[in-house]
Amino acid sequence: MNYQSILDSIQKEISSFKNTGKVATYIPELGKVDAHKFGLHLQCVTGEHFALGDAEERFSIQSISKVISLSYALKLAGNSIWQRVDVEPSGDPFNSLVQLEYEKGIPRNPFINAGALVITDILMGHLKKPKEDFLHYVRDIANDQTITYDESVAASEMKHKFRNASLANLMKDFGNLQHNVDDVLDFYFHQCAIAMSCKQLSEAFTIFLNYPKGDHSKQARTLEPILAKRINALMLTCGFYDESGEFAFRVGLPGKSGVGGGIVALHPKQYCIAVWSPPLNAKGNSELGMKVLELFTSRTGISVF
Ligand code: GLN
Repeated sequence: MNYQSILDSIQKEISSFKNTGKVATYIPELGKVDAHKFGLHLQCVTGEHFALGDAEERFSIQSISKVISLSYALKLAGNSIWQRVDVEPSGDPFNSLVQLEYEKGIPRNPFINAGALVITDILMGHLKKPKEDFLHYVRDIANDQTITYDESVAASEMKHKFRNASLANLMKDFGNLQHNVDDVLDFYFHQCAIAMSCKQLSEAFTIFLNYPKGDHSKQARTLEPILAKRINALMLTCGFYDESGEFAFRVGLPGKSGVGGGIVALHPKQYCIAVWSPPLNAKGNSELGMKVLELFTSRTGISVF
């Protein structure tokens, strides 16, 4: 497959793309990002990799971190986590409160904010120094010790914490948060504030590729196949909130978005691809990012379907 020529043809096509998206401003620090940034990185199991644009520029990974936290919680706490968070698509926005009330504080899945807050609380029960330990885990899976938190983004979100604080307080009332609400929020906002490039993200997400032993030098860092299977299933069904069906329909890959404008998607046993374009559509997903991934699976003919 000549990936480079396919990527070049995509870049040409999107040069005339009319982006109607808007950069997220509800976390004021995110609103400072240049809306015209665009990066893409494709990492194949063969070790080949390809890039477009600002592929090595770091941005706020935001909810993409929810996949990393889930993988860490599953490693540390195993299947016990499913007593506190469900595995069903929510069909609601990422920060919605409505289902929590009638589902008695059990979030519908780990990729909406409520679910990620529970996963954060679980991690805190297993880690001595949660923020430090989490950062080490991310650096380890990405094989890059330079990755770090963007403290100004974390502080900016803490200042505007009110909706996430509502979710956390409601779950605390239902008995589904063990730690202090502000400590949970602080750790969660830090996870979201990790800054990574498309190149680093596409490397980190190779842990979900489930490729056979010996195919890749990164085998030591891959997850157990059963965990990769479950996390990929959740990415496919819940990775884009109330637009998860649309993403599966148009792109046909498990993936996860963040309000920083990043999207990571992957084809088990084949490749990881990360794109970044800050303007978001009405559902909070990168408008151009979705378009590019749709073009990629259409032109390569490789999706999971
Ligand atoms: N930190 C953001 C929030 O909690 C993450 C949301 C997202 O990326 N969808 O609102």
